[in-house]
Amino acid sequence: MMSYPDLAIHTFTTKFWSMSECIEGYARRGIGGISIWRETLEGEDLCAVAQQVKDAGLEGISLVRGGFFTGKTKKDRFNALEENRQAIREAEALELPSLVLVCGATVGQNPRENYQQILEGIGSLADEAEAHGVKLLVEPLHPIYAGDRSGISSLKVANDLCEELSHRNVGIALDVYHVWWELDLAEQINRCAQGGWLDTYHICDFKPNQEHLLLDRGIMGEGCVDLVGIDRMMMEAGFEGKREVEIFSAKWWAKNQEEFLDEILNAYNEIY
Ligand code: ZN
Repeated sequence: MMSYPDLAIHTFTTKFWSMSECIEGYARRGIGGISIWRETLEGEDLCAVAQQVKDAGLEGISLVRGGFFTGKTKKDRFNALEENRQAIREAEALELPSLVLVCGATVGQNPRENYQQILEGIGSLADEAEAHGVKLLVEPLHPIYAGDRSGISSLKVANDLCEELSHRNVGIALDVYHVWWELDLAEQINRCAQGGWLDTYHICDFKPNQEHLLLDRGIMGEGCVDLVGIDRMMMEAGFEGKREVEIFSAKWWAKNQEEFLDEILNAYNEIY
């Protein structure tokens, strides 16, 4: 049987599968790891899920996702911290070593205000998260989401944030969908690695003709990302973790999920 020890899948990729369908479906194909979305955990016993993941021989990577630190009022921002504390406890119960953060942006605030609130939010949780054994990972998002999802819109800004926080429990989740267009990507990946915060690596593809800003991501090879080039940068920078496939696709979700996953593996075999 083929096996994919360096590959992990985000459970939101196979959106309509239950937690145990994900675990079984990934393990059966020899996939090495799993990142778990909170949406997939609805109604699940977290300790039982942790055990299932282990029994299946999968490595648990991240809980997805926390963040959304920005808000116009102190109360909004406090509530965001509470929600993140809950996510940190969930990651701990699931024995996942990291929590991915979509950092947030609030309409009506300027980018500097968003950045500052994100800095304060992560800064106030970093120690606490460390005590629970959960590293906080900033995922820079493509600037198309800068209005209401994330004020961290490039790998450079994410690196600036990590540098400013300078906390060993804060790192970066790099997703090719979000950063492929950056001209200084190799330099920023090296900076990330040298800082000790190049933690996780998400793959998919960016379709230039996408029909929906969120739900039309491509399988690797369906879009315009230089996946081989970015992978080389990651390896040359010393990245040793898994490649995690994270695809939101209304088109692929409408099809059989077993076939979708097999298509992902075909593409993975061709490119990596
Ligand atoms: Zn991602």
